[in-house]
Amino acid sequence: MRTIEIKIKGIVQGVGFRPFMHRLVRRHGLKGNIRNTSSGVTVELEGDGEELRRFLEELPREAPPLAVIEDISWRGIPARGFTDFTIIQSERQAERNTLISPDIAICPDCLRELLDPKDRRYRYPFINCTNCGPRLTIIEDVPYDRPKTSMKAFPMCPDCDREYHDIENRRYHAQPDCCPVCGPSLNFLDADGNPASGDPVALAQQALREGKIVAVKGLGGFHLACRSDDPAITRELRRRKQRDEKPFAVMCRNLEAARRFCRVSEDEARILNGARKPIVLLEKKLDARPELTHLSENNWLGVMLPYTPLHVLLFDGTFDMLVMTSANLSDTPILKDNEAAVEKLRGIADGFLLHNRFIQTRCDDSLCWVLSGKEYFARRSRGYVPQPVTVLPLHAQILACGAEQKASFCLGKGEHAFLSQHIGDLKNLETLEHYELQVRYFERLFDVHPKALACDLHPDYLSTAYASERAEKESIPLLQVQHHHAHMAACMADNGLTGPCIGLVWDGTGLGTDGTVWGAECLIGDYSGFSRFGSIRPIPLIGGDRAVKEAARVAFSLLKEAGCSTESLPNAPLLEKQLSAGFNCPLSSGMGRLFDGVSAILGIRETCSYEGQAAILLEAAAGESDACLPVIFCEEPAPEAPHTKLLRFDWRPMIRELIRQRDSGVPVPLLASMFMNTMVEMAVEIAVAASKETGIRQTVLSGGSFQNIYFMQRLPQRLRAAGLEVFCHRRVSCNDEGLSLGQLKIASARLKNDRSERF
Ligand code: ZN
Ligand code: ZN
Ligand code: FE
Repeated sequence: MRTIEIKIKGIVQGVGFRPFMHRLVRRHGLKGNIRNTSSGVTVELEGDGEELRRFLEELPREAPPLAVIEDISWRGIPARGFTDFTIIQSERQAERNTLISPDIAICPDCLRELLDPKDRRYRYPFINCTNCGPRLTIIEDVPYDRPKTSMKAFPMCPDCDREYHDIENRRYHAQPDCCPVCGPSLNFLDADGNPASGDPVALAQQALREGKIVAVKGLGGFHLACRSDDPAITRELRRRKQRDEKPFAVMCRNLEAARRFCRVSEDEARILNGARKPIVLLEKKLDARPELTHLSENNWLGVMLPYTPLHVLLFDGTFDMLVMTSANLSDTPILKDNEAAVEKLRGIADGFLLHNRFIQTRCDDSLCWVLSGKEYFARRSRGYVPQPVTVLPLHAQILACGAEQKASFCLGKGEHAFLSQHIGDLKNLETLEHYELQVRYFERLFDVHPKALACDLHPDYLSTAYASERAEKESIPLLQVQHHHAHMAACMADNGLTGPCIGLVWDGTGLGTDGTVWGAECLIGDYSGFSRFGSIRPIPLIGGDRAVKEAARVAFSLLKEAGCSTESLPNAPLLEKQLSAGFNCPLSSGMGRLFDGVSAILGIRETCSYEGQAAILLEAAAGESDACLPVIFCEEPAPEAPHTKLLRFDWRPMIRELIRQRDSGVPVPLLASMFMNTMVEMAVEIAVAASKETGIRQTVLSGGSFQNIYFMQRLPQRLRAAGLEVFCHRRVSCNDEGLSLGQLKIASARLKNDRSERF
């Protein structure tokens, strides 16, 4: 007979961990108790020594699918004389350290019950269990218990209460558990916000069938839904939402429906249909492309599968595919409250499918590609947040404030980096307010009290303003981090690297240490510092920010400097004048700009109606070619450190050859792929040169330009063939959304260095 105390750390609350433990305890004939603590769960067990040993062996192996066990420790304690196995009520400790589960898509067991006419939750749109359902989006505070969630408004009926307390039941201690008798309910409102009588789901289906646009309340916010098979309807949705050309995501009834339109690999199917159900960017089937152009103008279609019971009911017996786009107005946060939705979507939605479960926290759908069998994020949000990214131990509790346009923040504590959900563009006032509220909410949930703040170098980013204001108010250190260095560090942290590394960091813009705008950079360094090894020849942006929207302006600069004719471009004389006067022509070494310019030169796209459009369409236009254009470098003193040299890719010979080939009749798709092949070769040459000079082989790829899948399918392979060890993002986005993780690690390293200098 032995008695032990086991402490388990990780995501073990609200994921069916206690019933699982109960079964395991019984199987081994043990006695004792279990209680939730702030850091996980603590178990006291008494029984046969051999059974205890086996119990400890099986525990991590058989844990429920949503549980993330980070640490198990145990010690012997004096005998207690337990007579059964009991669950002790939650306790609130001084230090809270509980991890919170993300929102999880409806599980197979609940799906079965939902469609079973004999089940008491037959067609009940809020069915859930310990393995699935809302989590983060309904939690007000920790520890995670019903009175601290949106479900406090729905006292359990005796049947639910019995299930909740029955350890044999799969709803044992499922905080959002409910049924038609006691739980939330649906209603349907017409365009004016007046309740309509009838079955809300049937009314919504009817409206959708008739070609109407319906606002549907989901887990972390509202969607606007409409039929996807009629371009006239999506055109109307675009008109009402003032969203000209940006692709729409769709929801498909099931995998088979998705396969009718897109190529779905095994890995993609697994992630589409998994417990998290992000929007997966799938390659359109060739024969389906014409009928999908009105949804997305490139080769990808963002597809998700029904992830709430309500979605399942909406698709039941009706559609194969519906447009499902976030309901928000020009850059404001996704709508989450019924009243606000009805008010703000007036004139946009023809009907509202609502429910009365309050959304505590906004959470947009996550968006990813599937690369090497894993999510490759464009947006990490629902289903993933707030699961922490584990990192090597931090030196202090830190808040990293992120960038601006794709704002996110990251709270660091111990070995955990808690990245926020997708927040949006802080230049929008409501988004900024949402950002500030979320920072405080996360600090409370995860009990983090920042001792330092990290932010970008850019003084005009609103996240920088937030950070410096707060640092001053709280008299704590503010650490400013160069944009590309943060990207590089984010990819290092994502892969658990300590450096030094070579960082190929390609994005649109980021303020450099020399005060100019950097973009396609090759850095060498680690968390505590970096040097700039390579870049591209700077491009004058005629009209500054206007050139970001009007790719033709960049095209003009490229052609002019390469000594090519600019006649074919609009407003050439005007641009000529401005460029030669050097009036408002800031220099940029942005990869995004090079893409924009070439896109315009090839006649693919001359203006951008959404971020990255010209570059995305250039990628979409690419044909099959291995050919390459000239890759010429020049060496010059680095502007930010004149005694060091900087290797710059000179794009002028490339542009000249591109024009020559174009004029000799080479088709645009081949030219597009030749350009991108050239960028791949350029990256390889620069990285290899950096490796030769330093002996470093570990190379990280980060920055928004690596959302180009053409690159991702070629560059890592080519770098490996050249003898480098290559790391891409795996857990956070490569774009500015992932930036805060890098800021966090860099700030931590600097704090440590400061301390060691001082003491
Ligand atoms: Zn379930
Ligand atoms: Zn009930
Ligand atoms: Fe960036």
